[in-house]
Amino acid sequence: MLLDHTRLADLSFEIGTIRPPSEGGSYSLLIRVTRNCPWNQCTFCYGRPYNHEKFEMRSLEEMKADIDNAGAIYDEIKKVSWELGYGGDINNKVGESLIKGIPGLSSSHSFINVFNWLYSGASTAFLQDADSLITPTSRLVEIIRYLKERFPSLNRVTSYARAKTIFKKKDEELKQLYEAGLSRLHIGLETGDDELLKKVKKGVTAEEHIQAGIKVKKAGMELSEYIMPGLGGRAMLEQHAKNTARVLSEINPDFIRSRPFTPLPGTPLFDEYRNGELELLSPHECLKEMKIFIEGLDVTSRVCFDHFRNPAYRTESGNLYHLFKQDYDGYKFPEEKGVVLNLIEEGLTVDEGRYLQQEDYIRLGSL
Ligand code: SF4
Repeated sequence: MLLDHTRLADLSFEIGTIRPPSEGGSYSLLIRVTRNCPWNQCTFCYGRPYNHEKFEMRSLEEMKADIDNAGAIYDEIKKVSWELGYGGDINNKVGESLIKGIPGLSSSHSFINVFNWLYSGASTAFLQDADSLITPTSRLVEIIRYLKERFPSLNRVTSYARAKTIFKKKDEELKQLYEAGLSRLHIGLETGDDELLKKVKKGVTAEEHIQAGIKVKKAGMELSEYIMPGLGGRAMLEQHAKNTARVLSEINPDFIRSRPFTPLPGTPLFDEYRNGELELLSPHECLKEMKIFIEGLDVTSRVCFDHFRNPAYRTESGNLYHLFKQDYDGYKFPEEKGVVLNLIEEGLTVDEGRYLQQEDYIRLGSL
């Protein structure tokens, strides 16, 4: 038993339900700035990742207390490492000793988040939930400064943000956030087609998306934009692909991340699909839409397919094969645009029946 450190099991801070996969890959420290989504209306989502719960701001005191508790967990883990003779290094042996020595610790999300973050270098943090930027700028600046002062090893602090929220922020406010340490924003573009944006109630126009993206980059932050192939179904395939490429070409974000659409239970688009009002794309149609999109893209971004819903099929031997690489850095454009187009052509030669189908994705769930 690590008797002097049992308080570790009682230390906790609030953690929201989701973060982008790339932030999971880097084991970012999760700091909850707001709860849930302030919009909750997009018909493919409806706040589903946040269990449709009500949006709430968090006070500066609450957030600071969370950072203090994450810091206390950090200090205890480091102390244990020194006591075990590892000189502050965080490794598997330290983890095993902690889990074995402190009852209940293995089920503490706060401990697991801080341990994994320390284990992977303690360099990145993600501010939760869906739109942290809706927080008054002065409060957000203060909390980012507090976070960076407590953990000087942080070199990347990121957040989700709604384009509409950024569109309404002044350039000076975004600059202040960048200077405080906010270094990357993740924005759900979904589509650059105005008709489709309206249909899915995204609450933002293509032009506002463009202006918001340009403002983020002008402030000095990195920008990750998420797109949703298939969102317009068969009827809007071409306009969705072309206008999404047009809008992203104007923004030229650092990352473009593909999240193909699947209607998920509990959302209005799922009902439209079940009622036969929305015709989903077949695997080949999805690739054809991606082809139009990629051809129209004039960017220097990295285009990434880091989500399981991107095209995947069963090989002759039955193994699941992902057409595109799934890492967080994807393909560098324009240099690798040809590589992506060739992969799409290759995918179109594979029998559609071998691809994972929409019903598979619906069963697998998750946004
Ligand atoms: S997609 Fe984003 S903004 Fe839209 S309802 Fe879902 S969490 Fe909110």
